[in-house]
Amino acid sequence: MQFNKDLNTSIRYVKGIGPKRAKALKARGIETIHDLLYYFPYAYLDLSKVEKISNLRLIVNSGQWVTVIGTVRTFDLLGRPPRQRFVVVLGDDSGTVPIVFFQSVQYFKNAFKQGEMLAVSGKVTDFHNRPQIVHPSIDRLTSTEEGEEDFEGFLHTKGIVPKYGSSEELRDVNLDVKGIRRIMKSLLDNFLGSVIDPLPKDFRERNQLLTLQQSLSNVHFPESQTVLDAARRRLKFDELFSMQLLLALRRKSLKIEMPGIAFHIESTLARQLVDSLPFKLTKAQIRVINEIAADMRSSKPMNRLLQGDVGSGKTVVSLIAMLIAVDNGYQAAFMAPTEILAEQHYKTLANFMGNLPINVRLLVGGQRSKLRGDILEDVRRGSAQIVVGTHALIQEHVKFGRLGFVVIDEQHRFGVAQRIALKEKAFESIDHTPHPDVLVMTATPIPRTLSLTLYGDLDVSIIDELPTNRQSIQTSLKFEFQRESVFQFLRQQIVLGRQAYIVYPLVEESEKMDLKAATESYEMLKSTVFPDLTIGLIHGRMVPNEKDEIMTAFTEGEINILVATTVIEVGVDIPNATVMVIEHAERFGLAQLHQLRGRVGRGHEQSYCILIVPNWMAKLIKRTFTPFIDAEQEEQRKAVRRIQTMLETADGFKIAEIDLELRGPGEFFGTRQSGLPELQIANLVSDLDILSLARREAFQLIEHDPHLRYPEHQQLRKHFEERMKDALAFVQVG
Ligand code: ADP
Ligand code: MG
Repeated sequence: MQFNKDLNTSIRYVKGIGPKRAKALKARGIETIHDLLYYFPYAYLDLSKVEKISNLRLIVNSGQWVTVIGTVRTFDLLGRPPRQRFVVVLGDDSGTVPIVFFQSVQYFKNAFKQGEMLAVSGKVTDFHNRPQIVHPSIDRLTSTEEGEEDFEGFLHTKGIVPKYGSSEELRDVNLDVKGIRRIMKSLLDNFLGSVIDPLPKDFRERNQLLTLQQSLSNVHFPESQTVLDAARRRLKFDELFSMQLLLALRRKSLKIEMPGIAFHIESTLARQLVDSLPFKLTKAQIRVINEIAADMRSSKPMNRLLQGDVGSGKTVVSLIAMLIAVDNGYQAAFMAPTEILAEQHYKTLANFMGNLPINVRLLVGGQRSKLRGDILEDVRRGSAQIVVGTHALIQEHVKFGRLGFVVIDEQHRFGVAQRIALKEKAFESIDHTPHPDVLVMTATPIPRTLSLTLYGDLDVSIIDELPTNRQSIQTSLKFEFQRESVFQFLRQQIVLGRQAYIVYPLVEESEKMDLKAATESYEMLKSTVFPDLTIGLIHGRMVPNEKDEIMTAFTEGEINILVATTVIEVGVDIPNATVMVIEHAERFGLAQLHQLRGRVGRGHEQSYCILIVPNWMAKLIKRTFTPFIDAEQEEQRKAVRRIQTMLETADGFKIAEIDLELRGPGEFFGTRQSGLPELQIANLVSDLDILSLARREAFQLIEHDPHLRYPEHQQLRKHFEERMKDALAFVQVG
């Protein structure tokens, strides 16, 4: 992780890299020698263990992953749709084996040439007592076209060969896979010696980590699978360790920083609220309230994450905490990610409070300037006791009189920077309040260990129980050709007096198109399908007032069916709505689907979630999948998995796990947003054991040497200062 000066110099110093190549590499984010050393292979082809084709019958159905090398003898498209398959017969000097493709046959049809040499890796299955390999991963050993994989030179060395990602721009300067391998070789020959290991020797030995030099050398050109595994483990450890160090530092700086407020937690207001609720709090809610209250009483600032599935009752919990703050003479701020949500929360909170003497205000963009001025004044004077809003709350000119408690809803949409900005509003309070207590709420359940990782600087409370009055929601799948039956079902429900949502996806790049889809469907439903019913339309481009009118009408039952883009995703709470129809469900992420489904099932009636997907999915849904080799297929596979997950479970934690698996941690967590470095090689799910190790070591280290001052930590310190400047910025502000 730590390097002497050389490694921060330009890749121009690497033999074989001139201005043109340097430019092409820069486009990939590779500028320094360090960057290039850390441009890892995305995969390897293991030529050290190639199986003879005649031996395949011995390992049929063993589940073992094998590689065979042979030439393409014949290929043919067999059968007719939907049972069509494409078969390539591969032969070596010991025999032949069929390679079979069920998916993307149209693509594979044109993908092979007779006589070309392939390395085929996959599992051997059995078809009428003969071995076959289905949807394997394929490497071309002889390149047929420019820019294709070419391993021929390695055939005789029989080693483990790295595969590097290339691009058109890189190929233009002869940095195809082969070219990249060549410069990597020269890079390692000349610069590996200057790599300095930031981890002290006893630290490495204690944790059984290879040296950094060994690891870098082997990740590019592995001596063996065993050493490669060890090298990757070390490099993963480095990534996770840096991340955990950062979290440890962040937490430390939060804890030792300025004192927080020690609230008196005996609150009349909170008591009155609880007594007036039309329901009893669940055990989980009570437990979580106690955890929060304990934090509030302490003079250390609270930084707590409240996790709970959709509908688990987080809002009322946060309200109780806010009332405690208000009873202590402080203001509380509640920040929501969208205007609709802020408005909903505002109303919900106001409703809950009924006739408690609390002044709640709403601050969102697009309010008329007179009203806005009025609100701002109220906030400044401190007479607005609870202020609900969007990021309008953190705009510069917003000043609080005496902010002491901050709730941030749906953390996923806010970055660390915004969290900090809202906290700073407290320091800037007219009354100079100390560090406020912060409660972050998320409805995206995250497995506990992982939430510790992502929010390593926060304490975590979980509401793991839904109120008992909840109905389970029936989820079903329909294809587009079955839409008529969905409409009939909707009508039945409306006749029973219920209401329904029809949601369309809104993908940013094609916002207009999707909006068009939603608008057209709205027109069609209104004029042809349900001319006798009231249909509403709500989308993100409406001005707040319009949205507000529509939502109010829907809440009051004046609208039967609400056509919406995903603006209704979170928080909206209308108990009489019992049907959630999701159009193009395959385009939504799992977390979103789960959130949307959580919009129904909020009242006493049986509720339904209907996922509508295009007809082409019909043939994919039931098939079990084998590894694919092209990206489009991979996307389809994921889409099918998301739909299947929705049909199989309503358990938010389970859904989150699968979501994480499908999307990868980067996207799931929005690491960039969270102020954490992107992970390149480690995986927060599959490398959980390395993660725990890294976490333990990092937190111990910061406990003993919070400023990294010990001599044996100097290399680490340098590494941090050089590589993690941006991330460290958050520590300082935190
Ligand atoms: P979340 O924000 O966690 O998705 P909400 O706070 O919006 O959930 O609560 C969902 C609904 O459940 C609201 O209508 C709320 O009033 C109601 N609710 C909250 N707690 C309980 C409870 N203990 N028993 C019954 N209903 C509850
Ligand atoms: Mg809520």
